[in-house]
Amino acid sequence: MSLRFNAINNLSSSQEVTVDNPTRITAIFGESVFTVKTAREFLSDEAYKSLVGSIRAGQKIDRAMANQIASGIRSWAEGKGVSHFTHWFQPLTGTTAEKHDSFFTIKSDGTPIEQFEGDALIQQEPDASSFPSGGLRATFEARGYTAWDPSSPAFIMEIGNGKTLCIPTIFVSYTGESLDYKAPLLKALEALNKSAVDVCNYFDRNVTRVTATLGWEQEYFVIDEGLYNARPDLVMCGRTVYGQSSAKGQQLEDHYFGSIPERIYAFMRDYENEGYKLGIPLRTRHNEVAPAQYECAPIFEEVSVGVDHNSLLMDVMDRVARRHKLRVLLHEKPFAGINGSGKHNNWSMATDTGVNLLAPGKTPKTNLMFLTFFVNTIKAVHDYADVLRASIASAPNDHRLGANEAPPAIISVFIGEYLTKVLNELKERVTAKMDETDESMLKIDIHKSIPELLLDNTDRNRTSPFAFTGNKFEFRAVGSSANCANAMTVLNTIMAETLRKFKSEVDAHIEKGDKKEIAIMHVLRQYIVASEKVLFEGDGYSEAWQKEAEKRGLPNVKTTPLALDAMVTDKAKHLFENNDVYTHGELEARHEIELEKYIKKVQIESRIMGELATSHVLPAAIRYQNLLTNNIRGLKESGLKESAFANQKQILEKISEHINMTSDLVEKMIEARKICNNISDTRTKAIAYQSQVKDAFFDDIRYHVDKIELLVDDREWYLPKYRELLFLR
Ligand code: ADP
Ligand code: MG
Repeated sequence: MSLRFNAINNLSSSQEVTVDNPTRITAIFGESVFTVKTAREFLSDEAYKSLVGSIRAGQKIDRAMANQIASGIRSWAEGKGVSHFTHWFQPLTGTTAEKHDSFFTIKSDGTPIEQFEGDALIQQEPDASSFPSGGLRATFEARGYTAWDPSSPAFIMEIGNGKTLCIPTIFVSYTGESLDYKAPLLKALEALNKSAVDVCNYFDRNVTRVTATLGWEQEYFVIDEGLYNARPDLVMCGRTVYGQSSAKGQQLEDHYFGSIPERIYAFMRDYENEGYKLGIPLRTRHNEVAPAQYECAPIFEEVSVGVDHNSLLMDVMDRVARRHKLRVLLHEKPFAGINGSGKHNNWSMATDTGVNLLAPGKTPKTNLMFLTFFVNTIKAVHDYADVLRASIASAPNDHRLGANEAPPAIISVFIGEYLTKVLNELKERVTAKMDETDESMLKIDIHKSIPELLLDNTDRNRTSPFAFTGNKFEFRAVGSSANCANAMTVLNTIMAETLRKFKSEVDAHIEKGDKKEIAIMHVLRQYIVASEKVLFEGDGYSEAWQKEAEKRGLPNVKTTPLALDAMVTDKAKHLFENNDVYTHGELEARHEIELEKYIKKVQIESRIMGELATSHVLPAAIRYQNLLTNNIRGLKESGLKESAFANQKQILEKISEHINMTSDLVEKMIEARKICNNISDTRTKAIAYQSQVKDAFFDDIRYHVDKIELLVDDREWYLPKYRELLFLR
């Protein structure tokens, strides 16, 4: 029996995995995390102080202290049955990486002991040569090392019965270039902190720290493991390269917020419990629009922690799914014809005085502070739309952006009718000969219930890639499989840059004698005028918007190889250099890595398409072709008229035509790939893969293969069909 029918057979006998219900979530929340509270228990006063100083203020931890902290972490972990530790990091492959070492060691006199020293906590040298480096390590130093990031707490990862202590680290080359997602993110957050505190101090002298906040919404598909295993395309590239749409898709809209199927529900509770233990504050779960599609979201956290938690959870979900004989698909577009998956990044900034800088205030003064950060965000997105677009560019996301359910590749900002009015009012009220004693103009009256007003509004506009949703912006173009760090590094850097410029412009006005508030209003007006064209309230999916955006001169780069150009323009180099986030060399290296990733992904997909076509689709089609041929021959021999087998002939003609086309196109695609592989310049090669392989062949080949699927005898078809992948569980 083929894997397909085997998997379908096994479905009915599949057993639901029982999942323990915690009595209360708070009873398990964070139990596998070395929190500050745990540190208090396991560390001496001085070690505790040193750790907290490092977490809160970035102070250095000396060697003696590191030894103490390491040994405290070890006794905590051993108490929980842990024997191994690993540095845990987020290399540019997009997944997380670990290399386990045991606490076990042998002393010079031969005594076996368990130990975890400060050195092992602080630094490790994984064999880095197989991680992407974009040529950085070749040019500088062949080695890379991981370095402890005390701002992110250590945790215990459970895999089956095994438990491993994970130390969150950054990954850098010996000469200091960052080789991961985390190091530049931390730098961007520091840059934002500096600029934002300066601007906050116009309004409140007590603010000494600003942190960016992130609440991600993770969309994903879940399918049966047996069916998954019978689809080599899902196994190899995370998406189906072929598949005729099922009769029923999402048109009935009966899946969204529908009741969660039991088997999936057990899986959800299971990964949520694992997440809670790891301190991931999951809050929301529901069905999404497409069949077999779901979403989860945590309570928002500081960006760096939020990023770690998302990476960690993607890993946990994958592992837990296997326990349930399910597979979770984090790919942006696993199935054609139905919605893809995104990862909305809800983002804001908060002060150490407890103020959300994107929440409208209650007094004219706090309102002006809100408007300042609000308008600066719009200006930042306007000025650096291309860099923001590059931050979310990837081969899988290309399948989703601009398709009819996802935000377009045009970066625009939605702020809702009400705030549009407020900005217009501000623009009109601030005039050159504004009387500076006239305080009334400062009293921009903002309705107290903007969040509620907007919630209403934004729920109706899901088509904007960057939407204000009451007290935060929601960056919706991020792909479901992406590490949020990339988007967050860029967003926080462009914000840092914009706020810094804003401050220097306001200061210039003040020096000329303007009152502070008046100076701020002037610059805000100027920013509103300068960035207005990025504001768009209409339907982002519409044809009309594409045209309108072009008229406005907004960039609309549809493919990854070209979108990535924005990473290495002079503008981008200055931006990242000014804010100490990336050196030119690092940007060039990252650009190279992203292009290479793109090439490899398209290459793998193309190979799988070829393989499946020749080893699966064509044999099935030919078997059916033979059946028809024999049938027609038999009917003819029995003396029937032509008309008696006219239909069979018609089917035979069709199937023969699709067989020929598929086979021809696959041959041509292989030729095209060979030509691409001979191109040495990475960017040219990526563009060639996109235009000469992907665009030139993927849809065409798929068209014929999907027709064949529709024509051939169901029993001859060994790949699980869409209706099975999406509806059987
Ligand atoms: P939805 O977008 O589905 O209506 P919500 O708006 O309630 O849901 O929240 C979506 C996400 O936004 C959640 O993860 C939530 O924690 C997060 N969020 C709420 N406030 C902020 C904030 N100030 N900064 C960052 N994220 C936030
Ligand atoms: Mg949302």
